[in-house]
Amino acid sequence: MQSVKVVIVGGGAAGLGAAKTFGLDVDYLLVEAQNYLGGRIRTVDVAPNVAVDLGAQFIHGKVNNIVYDVCQNLNCIMPVSEETANDTLVLTSNQTVIDSNLFDKATVVWQAILEEAAAFFEKKTRTSHHSLSDYLVEHFKKRLSIALGYSDDIIDAFIDYFNQIELIDNGCSSLSDLSLADYGSFEYLDGDYAYEFQNGGYRSFIAYMKSFLPDEKRVRLNSEVVRVKYLQDSHRLQVDIRDLNHSSENEITTILCDHVIWTSSLGYLKENFSSIFATEKELLEQKRQAVENLGFDTVNKVVLVYEKSFWPEDVKEMILLHTQKSLPIPLSESLNDLTDIRTIVEAIHRYDVLPSTDTPVLICWFGGPAAVLIENFSNEIIGQICHEVLCYFLNISSKSNLPINIVKSGWHTNRFVRGSYSYYSTKSTKKDGELLSTPYAPDGIPRIQFAGEATHEKFYSTVHGALESGIRESTKLLSVIKK
Ligand SMILES: Cc1cc2nc3c(=O)[nH]c(=O)nc-3n(C[C@H](O)[C@H](O)[C@H](O)COP(=O)(O)OP(=O)(O)OC[C@H]3O[C@@H](n4cnc5c(N)ncnc54)[C@H](O)[C@@H]3O)c2cc1C
Repeated sequence: MQSVKVVIVGGGAAGLGAAKTFGLDVDYLLVEAQNYLGGRIRTVDVAPNVAVDLGAQFIHGKVNNIVYDVCQNLNCIMPVSEETANDTLVLTSNQTVIDSNLFDKATVVWQAILEEAAAFFEKKTRTSHHSLSDYLVEHFKKRLSIALGYSDDIIDAFIDYFNQIELIDNGCSSLSDLSLADYGSFEYLDGDYAYEFQNGGYRSFIAYMKSFLPDEKRVRLNSEVVRVKYLQDSHRLQVDIRDLNHSSENEITTILCDHVIWTSSLGYLKENFSSIFATEKELLEQKRQAVENLGFDTVNKVVLVYEKSFWPEDVKEMILLHTQKSLPIPLSESLNDLTDIRTIVEAIHRYDVLPSTDTPVLICWFGGPAAVLIENFSNEIIGQICHEVLCYFLNISSKSNLPINIVKSGWHTNRFVRGSYSYYSTKSTKKDGELLSTPYAPDGIPRIQFAGEATHEKFYSTVHGALESGIRESTKLLSVIKK
């Protein structure tokens, strides 16, 4: 039976961060269920010389951002370009174009309200509102109407737009699930909100992290840890691993180790927590509520690759305001009859032009219930929907300029992830966050430690949070091992 000092479960940013910290000093094995390293960082080629990130895409903030520092040294971040009036094209379902200044004004009002909402966390002010939605409903419409002086249908369409963006930013399926009290616990780092990568996306970051793996033997891909058991007599852990290279479900191998660093997503834990740690009653007690209560829903992307762009030159993003919600967007007959088509169409609010390439590539983000629904359809159908909706808003024919490639993510169906990133739900509190990251120490020594984005106190839902959490747990463990 193989024996190592530490088993790291999961080869995403957290697991790779732990492995890098151990370097050559610790005898570890990193076990990854999928056939690649990176986890929710997943870069794919969508055209010759064009790579797109299906998971993490941006670096959020600059100052004290460990991922920014690495990528800056690797020279893979795009220079920040000056904003111009032509960057944003705001379209309505009445097929008109709205002055982007109006959009900027609405954004200012929205951000001011979000900042007020975030302040509840810092000031610990009491409020009768539970969710972010409660607060927004009360404040946003009134203030937006005053600031813009526009008709109700435009104001409602703006509200709808910002709601969708917030669903995507927080990874929740409804803003009614997002805790107002803990909304401000996420810390934004100074610098721009979103730094973009040069062509290649997050690939160079993962390549850099992989370069610290001493040899191939330290990593086992296609291997799912299905059980971790503490052995009282030997004070060791028995880690059962299912080899997914074999078709037989029963192909289990066992490794013995002194410590485990567990880094899977919260979504995976929600589904498998009780079976993986079935023998560890105390651990189950310690974390059950946290695993159940913290939020983890889905965000997905649809990538459309074109031969020629058909949107105005210089445009970086196209915003869709659904101003005529009572009237469905006319689509091809074959699409009209699809189940849930309206939910999907009404969730389409924005197309980002991929800035790192001259090939015309649009990225359409989905949040809320539509993000899960799009996984039920083929790339071709979802791509066709996204294409036709954009053409309708632009008031041009959808018959020409068809996409030459369509790729979409499927983070909910992926059984090793089951969603996108964590958030504080109305059922959870900061205490749940702390409990999730508390090590399990049945003999007084931390035996099973928990990392991963959801365990980060203030950078949850990000790559830098995930990376820091892996470094945090491996550093703690180094001090135990070296004693
Ligand atoms: C669509 C999308 C967009 C995003 N955009 C951004 C962004 O722009 N910027 C940003 O900072 N962050 C973004 N994120 C979030 C970011 O990707 C994650 O926070 C981060 O990558 C999580 O890393 P992790 O190591 O905690 O988890 P993961 O990357 O999920 O790694 C965990 C690994 O564990 C493996 N695993 C699970 N169970 C087992 C098991 N039993 N045995 C073995 N292996 C197992 C999984 O396969 C996975 O590879 C985005 C995420 C998504 C989905």
